[in-house]
Amino acid sequence: MSKFTDLGLRAPILRAIEEGGYETMTPIQSQAIPQILEGKDLIGVAQTGTGKTAAFSLPIIQMLLKAEGQRTAKATRTLILAPTRELAVQISDNVRAYSKHLHLRSTLVYGGASEKPQIKAMQPGVDILIATPGRLLDLMNRSLINLRLVEFLVLDEADRMLDMGFIRDIKKIIAQLPKKRQTVLFSATMPKSVETLANSILINPVRVEVAPAATTAEKVDQHVLMVPKHRKRDLLEHVLKDDAIKRVLIFTKTKHGANRVSDFLEKLGITSGAIHGNKSQNARQKALNEFRAGDIRALVATDVAARGIDVDGVTHVINFELPNEPDSYVHRIGRTARAGATGISLSFCDIEERAFLKDIEKNIRQPVPLFEDHPFHDEGMAEKPGTGKKGAKPSARKPRQNAGKHKENRRINQPKAHGSEGGSGASATGGGGENTSGAAPNARPGKHSQRKGRPSHKTGNKPGGGNRSGNRNARSA
Ligand code: AMP
Repeated sequence: MSKFTDLGLRAPILRAIEEGGYETMTPIQSQAIPQILEGKDLIGVAQTGTGKTAAFSLPIIQMLLKAEGQRTAKATRTLILAPTRELAVQISDNVRAYSKHLHLRSTLVYGGASEKPQIKAMQPGVDILIATPGRLLDLMNRSLINLRLVEFLVLDEADRMLDMGFIRDIKKIIAQLPKKRQTVLFSATMPKSVETLANSILINPVRVEVAPAATTAEKVDQHVLMVPKHRKRDLLEHVLKDDAIKRVLIFTKTKHGANRVSDFLEKLGITSGAIHGNKSQNARQKALNEFRAGDIRALVATDVAARGIDVDGVTHVINFELPNEPDSYVHRIGRTARAGATGISLSFCDIEERAFLKDIEKNIRQPVPLFEDHPFHDEGMAEKPGTGKKGAKPSARKPRQNAGKHKENRRINQPKAHGSEGGSGASATGGGGENTSGAAPNARPGKHSQRKGRPSHKTGNKPGGGNRSGNRNARSA
């Protein structure tokens, strides 16, 4: 079963799906939706980008129609718990889009924003409440939200919720729910802690699983650039000279780091915004909207804030700093490989981050190809491993001839050739010749560039590379 029309969904839902441009179901959807429609509890192992939101929202919307219009003050019939405000907003946007021809009411409850409108929206009761745990618990404790009538519970990104320390809040929330309900849990990974939680809240769940971490990583044309820490900004400036980098998500480790990078970009005249936990919800949403609309070219984010960001047409992900959690790396680069599209990631790695790189490569079960054609490569490699200190005086070293020239970057900023325009290129098809750009001879495979059938620095794709952003919007057929 691959078509939405095979599911027996009501016409207004199918119409909304069609208007959203979806044609066929993604694997998680074709596996999960029929099971949820049958009333089963379900564990879905799937990441953001696989279409998991529709996988749980569509069947729930259909089932809510059985008692359409039955709402009780301050109560909700469905509770969707999400770890971050961004993810909650995104789920809410999707739910609204899927139910736009129906008379269902949904609302959002999350921290970092005024509670008044949230309390008011709950007053008449809703069909679907999407919430982050902290604020929800607060409003529950003050009897402003009542969960005794919940029929459907969804925990989205359960692994991240536990990582963020929400386990106690989640348990307190679930303790208030009726025992008789249908529960769905989605998680990108299934560590023991999530299994334990799942066992305690789901009854005889079916389990569906798609795209393990390595599969997402496969879709992204990855590169690592060795660079001394103090030269990362220069490298960023250098890389961003290429306008094939149209819409770039830049990751930093810390909130302050994100602000600093964003300020630096603004000084360079590159439009950018930053999103992280210290920003107000409004500021975060504004930056995200501007990024979505293409009004800003770069969005600088920390891992937590970027969790669940769903923006089509991200041409590049830059890891200004490598994450120390390999899973975060996969999540980060997955932002440029949405809904079947492929993308490019550039990871800036200094000497201290080499251990992180190793862990990442182990996790994705493939080496990240080394890209050496940039002006700071020699300096990065000259650092003495383990000391974080430079072995040779970088300032004394002359950058390689040609290094830093704009055209050099073409080789990393353009994607591999991926046969179809339809954006379904989940598998690499870019076999064949090595570098066809006629660029510098150091296009030889670097120490990490051994991956078979994936000429990492390959060009010879669509001229301008920027076509990619168009592709990214293409729905997989
Ligand atoms: P999610 O994993 O729910 O964050 O979804 C990732 C992206 O895929 C979102 O932009 C969805 O709108 C989109 N999407 C979800 N289902 C489909 C589908 N069947 N066909 C095409 N795009 C989809």
